[in-house]
Amino acid sequence: MTQITPHEPPTDVAERRAAKPLVCYQVDQLPDSNLVLYQQARTTIKKVAEITVPPRDGACFEVPAGSFFRIISIEGPQVGDLNLWNAHDLSERFFSGKTRQLHATHVSTGDRLWSTLPGLRPMATITWDTLDWYGWDEDGGGVHDVIGTRCDPYTNYMLKGVDYHHCCHSNLTRALVAERNLPPGEAELHVHDVMNVFMCTGFTRDTHQYFMKASPVRPGDFIEFFAEIDLLGALSTCPGGDCGSSHSDDSTACYPLKVEIYEPVAESLQGWTSPERSAYSGTHGL
Ligand SMILES: [Zn+2]
Repeated sequence: MTQITPHEPPTDVAERRAAKPLVCYQVDQLPDSNLVLYQQARTTIKKVAEITVPPRDGACFEVPAGSFFRIISIEGPQVGDLNLWNAHDLSERFFSGKTRQLHATHVSTGDRLWSTLPGLRPMATITWDTLDWYGWDEDGGGVHDVIGTRCDPYTNYMLKGVDYHHCCHSNLTRALVAERNLPPGEAELHVHDVMNVFMCTGFTRDTHQYFMKASPVRPGDFIEFFAEIDLLGALSTCPGGDCGSSHSDDSTACYPLKVEIYEPVAESLQGWTSPERSAYSGTHGL
């Protein structure tokens, strides 16, 4: 690859680099996450449905507003790629980039998954995470990232020159085709940047490249969400398995993931209302 020699730094390089970082958003101004209420409500939950996503595949599930859902590791360490939509309007979907800016590169209990503009409201709140002990490792890695996009057959073809049909992008597309009876070309356009459930990722310290390492998830671990609006979810069991070696091929051990839907006792959510879409006028100065 062609190497371009960097420019000579200016004489005040030290001063320019010494500017202090500012957290971009006043996140203490966000609406309350209702975590105390949800912690009480989750003590009353009863399982009402479950699905198992086979290895290297995808499946959809619906979660009514006010219910909980869990993504559970079973059989072996496995990463899951999660998409969420407003169940009644697929144009409102999970906004990975804004979620990252409002919370962090990796999310855990108390963080919310926000929807795309112009909705910009919490779609789901994380209420339990058995991997919350992981924190940040010595490589700067963490779990449950909102920085990766999803493995996809186009990037794979660009890099390897071969067709592979079980990337998360394709798994999510097939799941949506089956769930909503959409033409594949239309379903594919609804698939979006994911939350990488259980995946351990970060940026290398020297070159700031996206890295993955073997997930610390083990059977029995789960992450739990409260559905803030009526949700359609899709989960892909990534062909990377625990993402400790390769992905976008059939060479890695892969395992199923389970999704369980839970309903709390209705009284336990007294005072809670499903969030509305953003109240911004939407006129953009026009
Ligand atoms: Zn994947």
